[in-house]
Amino acid sequence: MTYSVEIDRKWQKKWEESELYKFDPSSNKEKLYCLEMFSYPSGANLHLGHWYNYSLTDSWSRMKRMQGYNVFHPMGFDAFGLPAENYAIKTGIHPQDSTLANIKTMEKQLREMGATYDWDYELATCMPDYYRWNQLIFLRLLEKGLAYRKNAPVNWCPKCSTVLANEQVVDGACERCGTEVSKKNMTQWFFAITKYAQELLDCLPELDWPEKTKKIQTHWIGRSEGSLVSFHCEKNGQTLLTEDGSLRKLDVFTTRVDTLMGVTYVVVAPESEICDTLTTDEQKQAVLAYQDLTKKATDIDRMSTTREKTGVFTGSYAIHPITGEKVPIWASDYVIAGYGTGIVMAVPAHDERDFEFAKKFGLPIVRVIASSADVADELPFCAKGILVNSGEFTGLDFSHAIKALIDTLSAMNMGELKINYRLRDWLISRQRYWGTPIPVVHCPHCGIVPVPEDQLPVLLPYDVEFRPDGESPLAKCESFINTTCPKCFASAKREADTMDTFVDSSWYELRYPDVKNTAEPFSKELINRMCPVDKYVGGPEHAAMHLLYARFICKALRDLGMLDFDEPFKSLVHQGIILGPDGNRMSKSKGNTVAPDAYISKYGSDVFRTYLAFGFAYTDGGPWNDSGLQAIAKFAGRVERLIEDITSIKINVKCGKHERSQADKDLLYVMHNTIRAVTQDTDRFQFNTSIARLMELLTAIGKYQSSSEYHMDLLSEAANTLLLLYAPYAPHFCEEMWETLGNTYSIFNQPWPTYDPSALIQDTVEIAVQINGQIKFKLTIATDLDADSVESLVRADPFLPTALAGKSIVKFIYVKGRLANIVAK
Ligand SMILES: [Zn+2]
Ligand SMILES: [Zn+2]
Repeated sequence: MTYSVEIDRKWQKKWEESELYKFDPSSNKEKLYCLEMFSYPSGANLHLGHWYNYSLTDSWSRMKRMQGYNVFHPMGFDAFGLPAENYAIKTGIHPQDSTLANIKTMEKQLREMGATYDWDYELATCMPDYYRWNQLIFLRLLEKGLAYRKNAPVNWCPKCSTVLANEQVVDGACERCGTEVSKKNMTQWFFAITKYAQELLDCLPELDWPEKTKKIQTHWIGRSEGSLVSFHCEKNGQTLLTEDGSLRKLDVFTTRVDTLMGVTYVVVAPESEICDTLTTDEQKQAVLAYQDLTKKATDIDRMSTTREKTGVFTGSYAIHPITGEKVPIWASDYVIAGYGTGIVMAVPAHDERDFEFAKKFGLPIVRVIASSADVADELPFCAKGILVNSGEFTGLDFSHAIKALIDTLSAMNMGELKINYRLRDWLISRQRYWGTPIPVVHCPHCGIVPVPEDQLPVLLPYDVEFRPDGESPLAKCESFINTTCPKCFASAKREADTMDTFVDSSWYELRYPDVKNTAEPFSKELINRMCPVDKYVGGPEHAAMHLLYARFICKALRDLGMLDFDEPFKSLVHQGIILGPDGNRMSKSKGNTVAPDAYISKYGSDVFRTYLAFGFAYTDGGPWNDSGLQAIAKFAGRVERLIEDITSIKINVKCGKHERSQADKDLLYVMHNTIRAVTQDTDRFQFNTSIARLMELLTAIGKYQSSSEYHMDLLSEAANTLLLLYAPYAPHFCEEMWETLGNTYSIFNQPWPTYDPSALIQDTVEIAVQINGQIKFKLTIATDLDADSVESLVRADPFLPTALAGKSIVKFIYVKGRLANIVAK
């Protein structure tokens, strides 16, 4: 085979010189925005995951291009973040230096993949011309009340020395480094994503996204319909008051207000402020000891239903809003400060965790729900039922009980129906160096002062001691931190925290189309034309992070008047994961990694790409297999021989007009069936079946070629079709073969083949067409065609007008497989 990396380079050079993939924003073709999740610029070469995501999405977008779409396909780098900083800490190389060098390397490798990126639209989030717009968006959100600062218990990764968003804590551990995350009270910046909780849910059904991803988001947003119930409380025999002298209320959220009459105690989260307020002097020691103990437990542990319950009495009591009864208030870590109100009304007879807790601590258990009157179900009985032992509410069913109880409570101003969400606001400040500076100033006189937009960007300084010690590195950089207040010009300090890098990626798809705009993040008119992204492809691991943040930011920017659409990504595909040859996840320690480079230099990038397409169901992935790759190399070799054969046949073979032989028909059938299948399957990211069809077509061409009577025109039509269909998967190879066949440059400027449905009709029969009983002409149709279709075929036949001789059709009769009889007058 002559195909090799040299052929790759030849065409890459030609494509670049001829600006083949330049995006033309003024084109009047239909726009199609195809985007892969951008990558982190790591020092190593492109790994298999990059190739799998990028090269095959490129194949998809190449087909779309040939189908006539004006495809916008940019590429860039998610360049801020911890890896560069951690690498810097290890090696002493400044994050900026290593990141910029890595971007250079990756750019080169991405070019060598032979993808259709238009590099004029490249972006890197660590550059001031990008992050200044992060800062502007931050300021606009701040102005709108969608960015705010508060003191809250936050997730702290001791190894990364920074806080993390809830979404970045996986099973209680840091998503980056796996270290167990602890809680810390800190004043931090948040984005008010919860204001969009309902809309984020409402828009999900209409998105062309994997169902699983939609489910993850639905679960993460966690909407529950319930009630808010208030309890007054008593400490040391005194009713607790608020600062303004009114009665202090403990609010609980419950989805089962029907069980209210069975409340026998109340639980508060041990880390909450209210826990400290409620704790009496006698209980102080015990509560402090318990708070210390629970600090180490992760949220996941704490919410587990199987974990042994622990807790401590605070010494205070809650007053039941309806019965006026006093019930003890306990602190227990099965209640979490960040969820709901951090206070729970406990109904041990009808809740498993409350039941266990009450059993352990000898608290009363009062049955108030039964499956039917007079039945003593086994406790805890958690299903809905009829109220028993509930005073005036006894006998009501679930929905009537809720209505009656809420009516009673709201008349007392002690309760209401409420919708609750599990979603928390997005914590965006980080105590790290390599990120976007948060553009505010802390002034001793004016408080928090936003940096005026015309003073952006607030540049990230280069000379910074970035080794983490729990304090933000920027706080130690004198030249950065000391400034003057933009309002009163007094000496002031800059904000020392940087933004979560997920802020950078929450709107980057909006920057690409207008990447050179120096006046604003993007032009509204342009972005409304170019977005939303039509096809977005990337890993499923960002379902509750990046994909949720980007949806929120899009909606927030819409409400800021910066764009006019609701969702950033119309259609989403997650690629699967390629495993090691042993079927395990690839890891250096297992020694089962596959490095693309060796294969590419041996076989060429197109053989490698075609194997990625053929060897796996795209969204599933699966184990790597060397022999699969060799099979693809053989396939490409056979295509090459076919093209050589055709070019060596003297072109003066006369074809002219000829009858279709059975061999012709067989080949035409396979050819058009292949066009149909490859078009449909490639569109659906079913690349493996597309390649299988191409292999069938090649086999059919071979068979045709060896038949006694083949026609040169059909042979070369089939070969051209094969190349056109294969081109998205093997762009360099097919460009070369296209040229070899004597066609004009470029194969990618050719229209995508369309199939002829009539060629797919295999079993045909000849029928006679009669008019008023006289046979006029004959017609070949599919055996299984129904009367209506036959009638329309007959009516469309060019012979019909002559045969009718001015008469018009009164009646059409079809005798299946034999004749069509027309009654005409
Ligand atoms: Zn960490
Ligand atoms: Zn000031």
